[in-house]
Amino acid sequence: AQVTSAEFVKSSKRKEDCPADGLPEFALVGRSNVGKSSLLNSIVRRKKLALTSKKPGKTQCINHFKINDSWFLVDLPGYGYAAAPHEVRVDWDGFTKDYFLNRKTLVSVFLLIDASIPAKKIDLDYASWLGKNQIPMTMVFTKCDKRKKRKNGGKRPEENVEDFQVLIREFFDAAPPWIMTSSITNQGRDEMLLHMAQLRNY
Ligand code: GDP
Repeated sequence: AQVTSAEFVKSSKRKEDCPADGLPEFALVGRSNVGKSSLLNSIVRRKKLALTSKKPGKTQCINHFKINDSWFLVDLPGYGYAAAPHEVRVDWDGFTKDYFLNRKTLVSVFLLIDASIPAKKIDLDYASWLGKNQIPMTMVFTKCDKRKKRKNGGKRPEENVEDFQVLIREFFDAAPPWIMTSSITNQGRDEMLLHMAQLRNY
């Protein structure tokens, strides 16, 4: 599984405006600063393809990237952006949830979780919502290269990953697949591409 071409297709404000060509797609979502833009760029081996702006107004859309002319990677707005006004956050919830529940060509949501820190409530809430609504999810742990000092109870990425999986188990009938990644070492990139290829062929 290799990326031979990647092109930005469009930004959509609502699910209705998304591309209608029926190609399968994978949606990347996660807390602001989780490393989503870096990972997207690492996957397609290009710098600055993804929208890297931190301003909420710039990333408030559903962004479709066409890969190898045959499937989409979808960049969704980051959640939990502290500086976003309340109404904006509510709106994000509205349209991303509508997208998750009703986008027919969505194969799996890739929930990005920072493996360098302990589980955050907002990530657990997101995973729980996806599980309860039976939306296929893959956990993508980011920043797995980061080595925390063991003092102050700091845990290794492997331990945070394990803790997270235990915490979300109750929300899912079957344990969701998970991948450990790093945009610095490119750990997990081939695994992600392979995983997406397998899911597309189901
Ligand atoms: P986004 O807001 O989710 O798009 O996050 P970015 O991709 O902009 O990354 C947020 C911050 O985390 C930046 O300072 C990145 O340099 C850093 N970062 C992203 N990915 C990694 C990673 O895999 N390892 C490490 N150590 N830092 C990362």
